[in-house]
Amino acid sequence: MALHDNVGVGDFVLLNNINMESFIDNLQLRFKAGRIYTYIGEVCVSVNPYKTMPIYGSDKVNEYKGREVFERAPHIFAIADVAYRTMRRIGHDTCIVISGESGSGKTEASKIIMRYIAAVTNVSGHQEVERVKNVLIQSNCVLEAFGNARTSRNDNSSRFGKYMDIKFDWKGDPIGGQIENYLLEKSRVVLQQPNERNFHAFYQLLFGGSDAELRQRNLTKSPEAYFFTKQGGISRVNGINDQGDFKTVNSALKLLGLQESEITTTWDQVGAILHLGNVALIEDGETAKISSSSKTSTDSVAKLLQVQASDLSKALCERAIAAGGQVVKKNLTSDQAVYARDALAKALYERLFNWLVKRINEAIKPMEMQGYKGTVIGVLDIYGFEILETNSFEQFCINYCNEKLQQLFIELVLKQEQEEYRKEGIEWQDIPYFNNQVICDMIELPHQGIIAIMDEACLSVGNISDTTILHAMDRKLKHHPHYSSRQLSPSEKTLTHDRDFRIKHYAGEVTYNIGSFLDKNRDTLFQDIKRMLYKSKNPTISGMWQDGAQDITKTTKRPQTAGTIFKNSMIALVKTLASKEPYYVRCIKPNDVKSPTLLDNERVEHQVAYLGLLENVRVRRAGFAHRTPYEKFVQRYKMLSSKTWPNPARNVMKDATSMILHDTGLINDVKFGTTKIFIRSPNSLFELERKRQAMI
Ligand code: ADP
Ligand code: MG
Repeated sequence: MALHDNVGVGDFVLLNNINMESFIDNLQLRFKAGRIYTYIGEVCVSVNPYKTMPIYGSDKVNEYKGREVFERAPHIFAIADVAYRTMRRIGHDTCIVISGESGSGKTEASKIIMRYIAAVTNVSGHQEVERVKNVLIQSNCVLEAFGNARTSRNDNSSRFGKYMDIKFDWKGDPIGGQIENYLLEKSRVVLQQPNERNFHAFYQLLFGGSDAELRQRNLTKSPEAYFFTKQGGISRVNGINDQGDFKTVNSALKLLGLQESEITTTWDQVGAILHLGNVALIEDGETAKISSSSKTSTDSVAKLLQVQASDLSKALCERAIAAGGQVVKKNLTSDQAVYARDALAKALYERLFNWLVKRINEAIKPMEMQGYKGTVIGVLDIYGFEILETNSFEQFCINYCNEKLQQLFIELVLKQEQEEYRKEGIEWQDIPYFNNQVICDMIELPHQGIIAIMDEACLSVGNISDTTILHAMDRKLKHHPHYSSRQLSPSEKTLTHDRDFRIKHYAGEVTYNIGSFLDKNRDTLFQDIKRMLYKSKNPTISGMWQDGAQDITKTTKRPQTAGTIFKNSMIALVKTLASKEPYYVRCIKPNDVKSPTLLDNERVEHQVAYLGLLENVRVRRAGFAHRTPYEKFVQRYKMLSSKTWPNPARNVMKDATSMILHDTGLINDVKFGTTKIFIRSPNSLFELERKRQAMI
């Protein structure tokens, strides 16, 4: 049988003993043999092979197309196929949730899934469907150019979360889609760690732009010349062809329907950000001013954004404040001006990214189908649980996201299992499982949760700082079993800084540093900057900054904080996913050195633990290792009973199944459901397979 392909077991449920050691041994065995996929029931565990695998061609597509998951060796195609078939069969939306840490292969998996779906649909070659498929696939390179970067963990790391719906018509052909993006890591625009790069787009423009294109923007070919691209000390990355990618991205932008002028504007903004990083702000008395050596950079920014240089300089060095219906001007210190400069760079980039996503969505907007709603497959490729050297607001959000997804996984896996047992009339026994709802609550509950506490501090007036937030959290959460801080437990070794607090996540303990939480949560962009961009002579830029039209004496509504926006987007995401039939791909990174031969036990153990894979196997097996519809069972094992072979069984399939199991002596290890046979121990399944092999 495909699940027992002589290299370990193809489904962890078939392991004799379920523990960490046997789990890892099996992964190890399979990884060494080039088997990167293994199931837990219908969950696909995928190990990043770190080499090109010859397993995604059209021969493989045909092998998996229309087949049941267990009929073929484990493969991500089988998951894509079952998600697609289920959607068509029951006319219900499905989704594929891909999770795992950075560099584990999530984005590759999502692309493989999309390519598979493209390969098995539109057999009649409908032109519009071809266009849609093409745009869906091409949109990837735009998202990656602007949303991905080289990090220390992954040369092509997605720095945003992505959920994509692919919509299908009644024939099962893709007719469009919709992308939702989450929390772009915009701090990277102004700050890169050693050995890391800024977003690819910057290098694509510098290395790929023609002399004329660079000259128009007053740029040189060298990333080392710009503060925003030189901090990491690395410009070129092996395996990344920025020059070629620049061309590919430009053609994709065209394909998406962007006007020539919009494409120019896109790169103008990228260029403007590069120049902006070189604008030095110095102290002049008490107040900031742009250093005279930065005049060329400043002029270039103004020219590319099509704003007045004097407006730019004011936006960076002054602040207009509304007081009693009057607008008063306040000079900034040079620190504040540097802050404003960086805020401008980040905001420009973030809006550009969001605008590109919006344009992609316009290009893939599904056409209306009269009287038919259509069905979708959602694909979620989102950042995995993250513990860095120093963990800040971004890690807090990312890890909260993973708590939410884990909560959904628990609910759905348990729910699905339970549902199935109930439907089939089989007795079900609960198995213990850590429910992380308590951690989700601690973060997201109104009034008492961390996000609410942060907001309260951020919105209060007066002299508040990051420590204000920390103290408020200490007060409200001091008895919470999943919270602690230096203040509350001074003897804890992991809490070394006064500004540290710790959350006991389902996946492990993470120490966060509260520094800059306040800023990142408030995420304020001063009205001066918005107004300047709104006044840009470039209609595309002006259009991106409509909120700059507001009169500051009249703006009363406080914008939502970054934490609250993120929380709401997570709640909406979970709701979307929960409304669909879910399939899971759990990605594992075998080592930290991108080696195709090494599976580092310790690193992998950790991932297996926090992805909850052992619990997953246990739940899946709580009772039955294998289940299959009666027809399928008889079809496969009919030769094992003289009553069903060589003359085909004329009985009801359930009775035929019973005969086979009697004749093979396995009848005591099974239960009969309404439509399926449930086999308790893996050995019985092996026994059946052995006997079958002997017969054919
Ligand atoms: P993640 O999105 O989880 O951070 P990626 O999908 O970007 O990780 O994968 C990181 C790198 O690992 C890829 O750029 C590629 O080199 C390699 N990789 C991942 N999955 C595969 C695969 N199925 N086949 C070959 N290489 C892969
Ligand atoms: Mg990725």
